[in-house]
Amino acid sequence: MPTAPSISAPATCWACSAALTSSPLLCPACGKVQLAASADYFQVFGLERLLGLDTTRLEKEFHRLSRRLHPDRFARATQQEQQGSLAATALLNDAYRTLRDPIQRVEYLLKLEGLKVGEENAGKNKSADRQPPADLLEEVFDLNMQLEEMRMNKKIGEDDPALLADLTSARARFESLLAAVDNDLATTGAAWDAGNSAARESAAQSLAALLDRRRYLRNLVRDVNEVLGA
Ligand SMILES: [Zn+2]
Repeated sequence: MPTAPSISAPATCWACSAALTSSPLLCPACGKVQLAASADYFQVFGLERLLGLDTTRLEKEFHRLSRRLHPDRFARATQQEQQGSLAATALLNDAYRTLRDPIQRVEYLLKLEGLKVGEENAGKNKSADRQPPADLLEEVFDLNMQLEEMRMNKKIGEDDPALLADLTSARARFESLLAAVDNDLATTGAAWDAGNSAARESAAQSLAALLDRRRYLRNLVRDVNEVLGA
């Protein structure tokens, strides 16, 4: 598993000068919280920048660091150290929340690699976000017609069992496409982990495209759920 520290030259503790080998937030020798620690989320856990994480190990390390960085432990330390433990705890929590989720993990890694991805980017680029993937144009067109009809039916209180069945099966179809995207994300993520820099560049582009597709499909499923009242 990718557990080797990614920090090529580990920083040293401000208090005792020991090397910060397992996390830049905490000295393994004297237990002092490290002030103004700036680390990316992978570095927080001493992990390489890889997508295939051992989540059990991540969870264990999170709890270990949480306990050791807990502000209560620094109640009698200097004010600087107290603030340091608050900041380190906040960073640790953000890092854990992001890395334990496989989708957020990909989004975060791509951002670290300088790619614009995720909701943040989608918000800035609404029109591209509404553009259906080319292979789904026809299906999405049909779906939108059915959704419109269903909304109209609801307004006038009319039942259309055939339309309801169509929408229900459309939802199942888009949910299966979502599952396929998640599969592809896992496969492409493994290619990123195993690849050299050229392979990684192409894997990163594929991952970004998969995230876009995933977001688009999720929005479709959400639209159907809204109309079906599910
Ligand atoms: Zn130390």
